[in-house]
Amino acid sequence: MSGSDIYDLIIIGGGPGGLTAGIYAMRAALKTVLIELGAPGGQMNNSDAVENWPGDEHVGGAELAMKFHQHATSYGLEIVNQEVTALVPGLEHHTVTLADGTALKAHAVILATGGSPRKLEIPGEDDNYGKGVSYCAVCDGFFFKDRTVVVVGGGDTAAEESLYLAKLAKQVYLVHRRDELRAGALLQQRVKAECKIDILWNAVVTEIKSKEGAVYSVDLKDTQTGDRKELATDGVFIFIGFIPNNTLVPAGTNMNADGYVVTTGNCETNTPGIYVIGDLREKAFRQIVISASDGSMAALAAAHYVETRKSEEACELPEELQV
Ligand code: NAP
Repeated sequence: MSGSDIYDLIIIGGGPGGLTAGIYAMRAALKTVLIELGAPGGQMNNSDAVENWPGDEHVGGAELAMKFHQHATSYGLEIVNQEVTALVPGLEHHTVTLADGTALKAHAVILATGGSPRKLEIPGEDDNYGKGVSYCAVCDGFFFKDRTVVVVGGGDTAAEESLYLAKLAKQVYLVHRRDELRAGALLQQRVKAECKIDILWNAVVTEIKSKEGAVYSVDLKDTQTGDRKELATDGVFIFIGFIPNNTLVPAGTNMNADGYVVTTGNCETNTPGIYVIGDLREKAFRQIVISASDGSMAALAAAHYVETRKSEEACELPEELQV
């Protein structure tokens, strides 16, 4: 590979963090490629509405994703739709391998692979996935128009998605394992005010039952008393957080016990030139605006890193002058 084939920056992941990093990298004139397997925008595409993206009081998740994508490509950002199979750090350059075997090299890499929905790991969950069990209300809610659904979880996602499902379904049961929601105060108010949503406190789903390919009920257990009961439902939506997608994180990278990558304030890992942003990075809150902020910070830090590396390389004495 000749010097000109080496990227300044490779961004892995095209969610809000990755695309923002792309915008900042292109504006900093870095030779950049972004690699994304799915639709640009990542998890934003699964949100019915986003109401906390500054400058847009209310915007559809997919619409916001499209805006990020358009903004990034308006600067000529190269986007490759492929799976990344490996990221190997190197002293000279880092190597990113794609599923088709292509090996790309770069001075700096930003890893923005986010996370995947956490599963309940209960009987009937995997068997009924796509047949009544879902992790995405925007994708599957329509199938439950005028029907009854169970939503599991107590965080922002469970609250938001319950409200979305309440617009379609006849009845939403929000099953939460404690007596207090984790969701933000405003969302909690809205959920409690929505007459189609019944919150079942101190309860966990222990089994999802189906017959002839259709879910018909869940088994519930009271977390305080241990009492059990069966609740009829047509569908089960599970929003109990997610697991970081850390399979590409190189060995030796500092991670916490939950598998999130620990970085410096500017998102750099303990491997120089490798940055981790967004939901994969250890942090207290996970928001679109925070991922975008990570993306801008990492791209600016990477620009500085690449510039320093290149000027160091330019200052190296030619071989014949070295002693
Ligand atoms: P989360 O905040 O981690 O909440 C997960 C919920 O699921 C918690 O209520 C938890 O219960 C419950 N839970 C976890 N494991 C469970 C299990 N095995 N069985 C039953 N319940 C279980 O996850 P999230 O709601 O997906 O949110 C993730 C992050 O994204 C958060 O930082 C959130 O603020 C952010 N987010 C932001 C927005 C927005 O800004 N519009 C929208 C969605 C999400 P406990 O409460 O008892 O732990």
